[in-house]
Amino acid sequence: MFETLSDRLDKVFTGLRGKGRLTDADIDATAREIRIALLEADVALPVVRAFIGSVKERARGAEVSGALNPAQQVIKVVNEELVGILGGETRRIRLAKQSPTVIMLAGLQGSGKTTLAGKLGRWLREQGHTPLLVACDLQRPNAVNQLSIVAGQAGVDVYAPEPGNGIGDPIRVAADSIEHARRTMHDVVVVDTAGRLGIDAELMAQAAGIRDAVQPDETLFVVDAMIGQDAVNTATAFADGVGFSGVVLTKLDGDARGGAALSVRYVTGQPIMFASTGEKLTDFDVFHPERMASRILG
Ligand code: GDP
Repeated sequence: MFETLSDRLDKVFTGLRGKGRLTDADIDATAREIRIALLEADVALPVVRAFIGSVKERARGAEVSGALNPAQQVIKVVNEELVGILGGETRRIRLAKQSPTVIMLAGLQGSGKTTLAGKLGRWLREQGHTPLLVACDLQRPNAVNQLSIVAGQAGVDVYAPEPGNGIGDPIRVAADSIEHARRTMHDVVVVDTAGRLGIDAELMAQAAGIRDAVQPDETLFVVDAMIGQDAVNTATAFADGVGFSGVVLTKLDGDARGGAALSVRYVTGQPIMFASTGEKLTDFDVFHPERMASRILG
């Protein structure tokens, strides 16, 4: 479906091997191809522009001779720049000095927060922790039930308002859950929050209220990689409204080319920490910048 960047650049540089330095015309043609590749991978336009600026700089100094042909040289530069922007190395969860460590999840409805709570629960348990999943998505009728199901699959405990008490106050539930975790010796609390289909002020205020109540050590912004260019607006809104310390990309098993990763990281400056690649609890891993760079380059 997509022509990879290396195929595109090979065409640009046909016959160039052995000619010395890349000319300005070569570099402009290169920039055009990189631009197309990044836009096809769904990277947001301002990010594409900034990125191309820095690659052009480096391409100007590149010699054509040597072990790599011009296309390979440019790909190497693009790859290094991408890995750099995507964070270089994986950043791990910061554990609190005093238990419990609190991890809050925020994002749009359907982005995969509740599923992620289960995945994180399972992953934390495997790392030797005793996590508690907290149901603060009291907006969606089935969300509490869904969280209980994934907690059961993950083999971890859940804290939720009693059924039949009407919809509770999520900020209260969040605050109480920390006390509960202390009493019951859970060392990590994962707080699932409500998301709307679009960004709205009430949702942001509620998420900010939960944040103030639980003082999270990490707030993870959960974003569906398939939303592509919209990821930038959504990420900016959550950065302003709630603030976050890390990003989780979900639905990377779909055919998204991963541009959302680059855009969100670039625009917010926050690291991408985990990647979700399916509906099962095992479809989950820490984020690897170099894998994402290859995916973006095709
Ligand atoms: P929430 O509204 O943010 O809590 O989102 P959910 O956790 O309910 O997820 C919404 C839908 O996306 C559900 O049908 C999940 O099974 C599905 N889902 C979540 N993560 C992934 C993923 O990484 N890949 C795929 N293919 N589906 C996912």
